[in-house]
Amino acid sequence: MLEIIQKAEEQHTLTFNEIVELLKSDSCLPEIMSAADRTRKKYVGDGVHLRALIEFSNFCKNNCCYCGLRRDNHNIERYRLDEETIITLARHAAIDLGFKTIVLQSGEDLWFTQERMCSIISQIKKLDVALTLSIGEKSAEDYKAYKEAGCDRFLLRIETTDKKLYERHDPQMSWRARYQCLKDIRKAGIEVGSGCLVGLPGQSIESLARDILFFKTINADMIGIGPLIPHPDTPLKNAQGGTFTMAVRVMAITRLLLPDINIPATTAMETLESDGQIKALQAGANVIMPNVTLAQYRKNYELYPNKSQTNAVNTSGLEPIRKRLESINRFIAEGKGYHQKQRS
Ligand code: SF4
Repeated sequence: MLEIIQKAEEQHTLTFNEIVELLKSDSCLPEIMSAADRTRKKYVGDGVHLRALIEFSNFCKNNCCYCGLRRDNHNIERYRLDEETIITLARHAAIDLGFKTIVLQSGEDLWFTQERMCSIISQIKKLDVALTLSIGEKSAEDYKAYKEAGCDRFLLRIETTDKKLYERHDPQMSWRARYQCLKDIRKAGIEVGSGCLVGLPGQSIESLARDILFFKTINADMIGIGPLIPHPDTPLKNAQGGTFTMAVRVMAITRLLLPDINIPATTAMETLESDGQIKALQAGANVIMPNVTLAQYRKNYELYPNKSQTNAVNTSGLEPIRKRLESINRFIAEGKGYHQKQRS
C-alpha cells in the first residue's frame, strides 16, 4: 500500500488495480490524505479559492433519484430569482465581499433560455470576476453562446461512469449525452468541472476507480466529489448513502492523480462530518464555495437534507472563513483561480 501511495505522489499515475487496492483497503487513509495534502501544496499552494455560490432556481425538469430538487418532489417550494436579484447578489459578492468567482447554480430550468442566461452572464462579467455555471445539460450551441457571453467554467458532474447505474438513478437521461456535454463544454473553450457521487446504491469500488481514471481521461480542470446523503423526499430515502471516509479517500486519490486541478471541499462533506471541509482541505482540496444565496431561498435548495450552513455568508462576511483557514495555516487566495496546468 505504502509503495502505491508513493508511486502516486511521485508519478501521478496508477493502474486500475492499484486504485482499486487503495480504495478497498480499510487502512492507510491518513497516509493517502497526507500524500494528497503535500501534492496540493506543491502544485497549487496554500491559497484557498473562494467561489461565491448563487442558487438561482430550484426548478428542474429531471428526476434524479438522489436529488431533492427532482421534478416529482412536491414537498419543496419552488423559486426562481429574477435577473435583477441575481445581478444584485453577484454585485454584493464581488464588490462588498471581494469574491473573484461567481458560481451560478440551478436545476435544469428551461425558463432560463440561452438568451436570458447570456444576458445575466454578460452583466456579471462587468464586475471583473470569473464566472462558473452549474446549470445542467445544454446543447453545444448553448455552451458556445455562454462562452461568448463570458462564461469561464462549467460544472457538470458525470455522477458515475457506470452507464447502467447512471441511467438507473437518472431516469430518462443518457450517460452518453452527458459525456457529450462535457466534450462540448471543452470544445467551447470553457474550463471543465466534473465529479462523482460516492455511495450510490449498486456502486462498486471498481466503478469508483473507473471514475477517477475518467477524470484523468477528460483532462478535467475541476473535480468535485460528493458523498450521497439520502434525501427523505426521493426514491433513495432509505439508501445507506456514502461515507465521509470513502468520499475523502476518492478525493485524495483524485488529487494524487490530477495534481494541479481545482478540487472543492464540498458542503456535503461538512454535512456528514463535523469539520469535514477542513479535513477535506487537508486531504487535497483547495476550493470552497460559500453560499451567498439569500437565506430565505437556501432552505428550498436541498439537493440533500440538513445541508451544512457553515459556509453560508452572513453579515460577518468572510471573516469566519478567513479564521477557519488560518487555523490550518491556509489563506484566502488572490486571483480568479483558473486551472494553471503544470503537468507535462
Ligand atoms: S441532480 Fe441536477 S438534474 Fe438531477 S434532479 Fe437534481 S438538480 Fe435536477
